[in-house]
Amino acid sequence: MHEKLAELRARLMEIDDLSSAGALLNWDQSTYMPPGGAAARGRQMATLGKLGHEKATDPAIGQLLDELGPYEASLPPDHDDAALVRVARRGYERLTKVPAELIAELYAHGAASYHAWTQARPANDVATMLPYLEKTLELSRRIADCFPGYTHIADPLIDFADYGMRAETVRVLFAELRAELAPLAQTITAQPPADDACLHQYYPEAAQLAFGEQIIRRFGYDFTRGRQDKTHHPFATKFSVGDVRITTRVKEHDLSEALFSTLHESGHAMYEQGVSAAYEGTPLAGGTSAGVHESQSRLWENLVGRSRPFWQHYYPQLQAAFPDQLGAVPLDTFYRAINKVQHSLIRTDADEVTYNLHVMLRFDLELAMLEGSLAVKDLAEAWNVRYSEDLGISAPTYSDGVLQDVHWFGGLIGGSFQGYTLGNILSAQLFETARKAEPAIDSELAQGEFGALHGWLREQIYSPGSKYTASELVERVTGGPLTIVPYLAYLRGKYGELYAL
Ligand SMILES: [Zn+2]
Repeated sequence: MHEKLAELRARLMEIDDLSSAGALLNWDQSTYMPPGGAAARGRQMATLGKLGHEKATDPAIGQLLDELGPYEASLPPDHDDAALVRVARRGYERLTKVPAELIAELYAHGAASYHAWTQARPANDVATMLPYLEKTLELSRRIADCFPGYTHIADPLIDFADYGMRAETVRVLFAELRAELAPLAQTITAQPPADDACLHQYYPEAAQLAFGEQIIRRFGYDFTRGRQDKTHHPFATKFSVGDVRITTRVKEHDLSEALFSTLHESGHAMYEQGVSAAYEGTPLAGGTSAGVHESQSRLWENLVGRSRPFWQHYYPQLQAAFPDQLGAVPLDTFYRAINKVQHSLIRTDADEVTYNLHVMLRFDLELAMLEGSLAVKDLAEAWNVRYSEDLGISAPTYSDGVLQDVHWFGGLIGGSFQGYTLGNILSAQLFETARKAEPAIDSELAQGEFGALHGWLREQIYSPGSKYTASELVERVTGGPLTIVPYLAYLRGKYGELYAL
């Protein structure tokens, strides 16, 4: 059995090496590659992807997994070997159930659709994208149908990102949240908006980057096993447990852009840096779901990085770094500016109170399209209706409306949005649990120290990697299922104080 397990590990390591090499090529493409490299780079990444897919669907892996079945069954489920076989089997079955021709068709269509979208969005041209969306919807349904036995057609697609989650569970959770958030957002935005002019002065790039990096070093992001570079759309990426990188984007007239993207991506990266080194090269070595990953980025970005105690400590340092810009700006003005709530059109720019309204309406529209109750030709209109209902605004252009996010135009319809809001909900639930377990977290935070919080997260969330599913992890760590209660309490507490509700 140990020989078979060693062979499985060796095969999984090769697959991981190919995917890490692809990730490195992608990182380079998004940071330093000269424009002339684009055509060859696309081909190189496709070649690596194809080799990886061939290795990952090799029937020899299926045979090893079958042979290891009795060994797995003889172990307790949370034994590392049992988890390895279980999670490897889940990945193998997922990949082998979708025919290679369908995957090739999806990639080819995704590339063509993405290319068309890069031109259609600036041109405000929704008509060009409708036939692409029709095809994407058809492909998404065919992919879902490779996994018969689902309750809702979106279930298999949701499963890819948030394993174990079901459309119905998410829909119920989101409906509850929407019923609370929409009126809260309305009440707040009826008040005069916060003045955020202090954030829109001139802030030199180098000083911005230095300040953000100083903070994430204190958080516990390990620069000996990572680095930060500039890009167009910030992301975190991992090549091994010893090399987890982040990227950011600087605007010299918007202090919040680089700062909060750095804090956000450091949360994703610390999760990956904290996975047990024993899992290196296996499917256990990574965050367990999109929602749990996003909970880690949002926890550091928002619950820590936009909190009053955090800035009571760090604001004098920020003022010292930018004396001309912030020397005369009181802490309270700055704190209100970084937590400004407004009805905005763009999801990625939205504040904590309105952000989930953007996500939840996309999720509902996806389900409606997959169910067939919403036709693609009616999507733009349905989009505007929901924005009016939930956010009280409607986009003057398709570019800032239905064409704004890449997800539907480069991938699948279904499964790619729910993780953002699941992450926000979970960030508050986990933070609440951490503060109860480790009372030092609050006192440290007010002094710019994060050892107790990082230590708790590393032990409870980071180190198990993908050993537990998201719902198993939440149950183990918090003693109950995912709930919106702590998240609503957090928003009501914070914004109730800010807006005297
Ligand atoms: Zn994120």
